[in-house]
Amino acid sequence: MFRRDTTAESHFRIEVRTWLEANLPLALRGRTARPPPAELMPWYQALSRKGWIAPHWPKHYGGMGATLNEQIIITEELARIGAPQLPAQGLNHIGPILMKFGTEAQKAQHLPPIIAGTVIWAQGYSEPGAGSDLASLSTRATLEGDHFIVRGQKIWTTWGHHSDWMFALVRTDPQAQPRQAGISFLLVDLRSPGIRIRPIKTIAGDDEFSEVFFDDVIVPTENLVGKLNDGWCIANALLGHERLASSNPQFPLMALERIKTMARASGVIADPAFQDRLAAASINVTALSALFSHAVELTNNNQSPGPESSVIKIFASELLQTLNELLVQAAGGHASTQNPITTNFGVVDVAAPFLQSRRVTIYGGSSEIQRNVLARRVLNLPS
Ligand SMILES: Cc1cc2nc3c(=O)[nH]c(=O)nc-3n(C[C@H](O)[C@H](O)[C@H](O)COP(=O)(O)OP(=O)(O)OC[C@H]3O[C@@H](n4cnc5c(N)ncnc54)[C@H](O)[C@@H]3O)c2cc1C
Repeated sequence: MFRRDTTAESHFRIEVRTWLEANLPLALRGRTARPPPAELMPWYQALSRKGWIAPHWPKHYGGMGATLNEQIIITEELARIGAPQLPAQGLNHIGPILMKFGTEAQKAQHLPPIIAGTVIWAQGYSEPGAGSDLASLSTRATLEGDHFIVRGQKIWTTWGHHSDWMFALVRTDPQAQPRQAGISFLLVDLRSPGIRIRPIKTIAGDDEFSEVFFDDVIVPTENLVGKLNDGWCIANALLGHERLASSNPQFPLMALERIKTMARASGVIADPAFQDRLAAASINVTALSALFSHAVELTNNNQSPGPESSVIKIFASELLQTLNELLVQAAGGHASTQNPITTNFGVVDVAAPFLQSRRVTIYGGSSEIQRNVLARRVLNLPS
């Protein structure tokens, strides 16, 4: 990789590797899709008991308070063993947001269950009429005394049907101009009366996300994060965390291993033109690890990664797609099968990760939107 472990770090790496080998169930290794909660959450809880579920969280909130290099080591070891993708909305999105913008009561109520893995969170931003143009969202929250009445619909809610709570953007002032000035950030208990959740099946066959309907749902005012009508800056801070977290090199590293296994099995590994493409892809995965670690370092030092999170989101998501296209090339004539391919070097799933990688340039803000952000905020080009 792009850095060398110190002696203390190499001891830590061995400790992580040994523990993962002993504790990560075989059935959860090398999974291309996120396993369902009944399989995944016991693993989440095991990591939590070990104290490693939130390397990037400060110790006083139940995190590990890990150094940057320790965080990188954990990422690399999770990739090496093929650890499954964990639900990210609590650990990477709402957790850090509550640490910065939440009240003491909100932190006390919500941070411990995220660490323990007893509560799963969903993100309620997108609506049928509001995706890239998020500020046009229309789910309405009307203030009535000590509570809001919420009415509207969210869509593409990852794990909405498995979640207990949602952080949602809602319109609290329909007249406000600009539109961003009428949006608030609410925490919604998904068990509240008036909520209906319908799973959506994806092209890869999993039902990873859902649509969520709110029919006059009562949400107490203490669930407002930040000030009334001031949710837009929180929404954007959260998107910065989301873009960074979704660029974690763990999954490109795993994709690279999958390509090598498939190429050895098919014999394509001997083709010099393929070797060229594989070398370029490997260099780009190393570059992503370096970019990611720089961005995490900025965040650890309490600086927002700013437009850096858009650079890394574009680079990571487009790289993952390139890697999965290379996986298809490695599989050659076998790539057209929908089922995992059994080879002398192990079982390799080609179709599912290829199809799943189509989504990465869409969620957390599409590549086009990230390029618009960079054009405006970094290059100062006219809108
Ligand atoms: C796997 C997955 C998980 C998701 N999980 C969640 C979740 O948990 N919670 C949640 O709230 N949302 C979630 N989303 C939704 C995601 O945030 C939106 O899909 C995304 O913001 C794009 O919005 P849209 O789908 O409405 O597309 P649109 O905004 O309609 O865009 C369609 C196309 O037009 C392009 N486009 C739009 N505007 C511009 C512009 N101004 N300039 C150039 N090009 C433009 C886009 O790049 C895109 O290619 C998820 C999406 C996916 C794919």
